[in-house]
Amino acid sequence: MVSVPFAGTELGPVDVAIIGGGFSGLAAAKDLVAAGKSVIVLEARDRVGGKVYDKEVKNKDGGKVELGAEFVCNNHTRLLALAKELGVKTFRTYADGKMVLCTKEDRLLYDPIESQGLPPLPEEDLITLGTVSAQLNEFAAELDVWKPWAHCNAKAWDSLTMSTWLDGFTKNGIAREVLDLTLRAVLSAEPEDISFLSVLVYIARTGSEGVPGRIEMLTNVKDGSLEDRIEGGPQSIAIKLSERLGSEKVRLRSPVRQVLRNELGYSVVGDTFKVQAKKVVIAIAPALAGRLVYSPPLPAIRDQLCQRVPMGSLGKVFAIYDTPFWRHDGLSGEVASVEGVTQSTFDSSPPDSSFGALMGFLEANEMRRLDGAPEQEIFDAVKKDFIRYFGPKAANVQSWMLQRWDNEEYSRGGHTGLFPPNVWTQFGPALTQPIDGIYFAGTEASPYWAGFMEGAIMAGEAAAKSIMDAK
Ligand SMILES: Cc1cc2nc3c(=O)[nH]c(=O)nc-3n(C[C@H](O)[C@H](O)[C@H](O)COP(=O)(O)OP(=O)(O)OC[C@H]3O[C@@H](n4cnc5c(N)ncnc54)[C@H](O)[C@@H]3O)c2cc1C
Repeated sequence: MVSVPFAGTELGPVDVAIIGGGFSGLAAAKDLVAAGKSVIVLEARDRVGGKVYDKEVKNKDGGKVELGAEFVCNNHTRLLALAKELGVKTFRTYADGKMVLCTKEDRLLYDPIESQGLPPLPEEDLITLGTVSAQLNEFAAELDVWKPWAHCNAKAWDSLTMSTWLDGFTKNGIAREVLDLTLRAVLSAEPEDISFLSVLVYIARTGSEGVPGRIEMLTNVKDGSLEDRIEGGPQSIAIKLSERLGSEKVRLRSPVRQVLRNELGYSVVGDTFKVQAKKVVIAIAPALAGRLVYSPPLPAIRDQLCQRVPMGSLGKVFAIYDTPFWRHDGLSGEVASVEGVTQSTFDSSPPDSSFGALMGFLEANEMRRLDGAPEQEIFDAVKKDFIRYFGPKAANVQSWMLQRWDNEEYSRGGHTGLFPPNVWTQFGPALTQPIDGIYFAGTEASPYWAGFMEGAIMAGEAAAKSIMDAK
């Protein structure tokens, strides 16, 4: 075989090459650098943050909206510690006033705090909703977050889709529609996309050592994961962390294509560069990790895991207004609707309320349907939804912002990897199991808050620790 000399830039050698400059890769880099390791973070995009991405709103004096991750809570201890260390503050998500629940027939208003989370629905529907939530919390509490596949019912639970499990309580009607929309909102998936076990794992991972997770953590603003936001947007944390690491350690516009074992460790190869590293951290979602070329190939269990954990389907759309007009009408901006292009909305206005921003999630089947649609078609449909939810004033949109994560080459969807039936139980251990000098991070690999920024940081820190422990 004739060897062709490499024409690009040769970098390194470094102790660790980290693929991905999202929260996970940056957190791994931070800890490795603190331990005296030489690192390079290779980031495909021209920015850090990955699925954490804030953008300035036109003509709003530098005001931003969060096109990716937005909400945090007190339980996100690592993220908050990092924010504090970097001088970034949080503020409360606006949640005063009534939220709107739209059924097929009615527009119902209620204060979730006064009503202790109970929407104004017929009693039999409330009983179904309460029974399902209690059962989810009970089963989730039984799981070992480190080894969910080890539960005695794991195999049975993993053989069901979430949809099939819900059929055992209610097949149609308002309670079922509310449950479907809730799952869509928290997992960016249809209940038929994912295994029942995977939902239990997702709930269990909202806990902490000794504190079981609860579904309410995923759905609630008050006392839930949506309670707070980050001043200036959460990407500011990634940017500050990357600045602290320095541009020689964080290389932008550097998509990695190949990870090749050699006698000194690994050659991590992009289109125009290659880096010699002793160890590699893969800080990207399994669906993206499976697109890299590995030599030798990954063991089948890891490769097949990457083939089986697709990203959710998710977008975010923002209508920008002169003021948060809904607040004056006694509304919080939060909507849950069983129909519509956007079925879940929040008040995403800046902390000084200098303009109004209504954010709507585009989720699962709705997002897939609209992945190729012209932007204007989406804005027109969302405007109709917003008028239905907030009244005629919602028509006075000043500008729109849209982010379709499914169309992003280096995300391929959001907000996290999904686990269809038979994946957790067959491939679960491969999520975190290192392969020689290759270590896996990314939010999916976290024992707690997987799917969140907090989980991304935890998984990055865990990968760094494994490297340090291995010497
Ligand atoms: C719309 C949306 C809303 C969300 N809301 C919240 C929320 O409110 N709260 C919350 O905590 N979380 C939220 N999340 C989830 C959160 O954003 C993610 O869990 C977290 O950011 C994942 O971080 P990560 O580092 O694991 O992956 P990523 O953020 O995906 O980072 C991976 C990085 O790797 C890069 N990359 C990919 N392939 C390559 C390659 N071949 N070579 C080099 N680089 C590569 C990517 O460009 C990216 O920068 C949301 C996500 C989305 C999309």
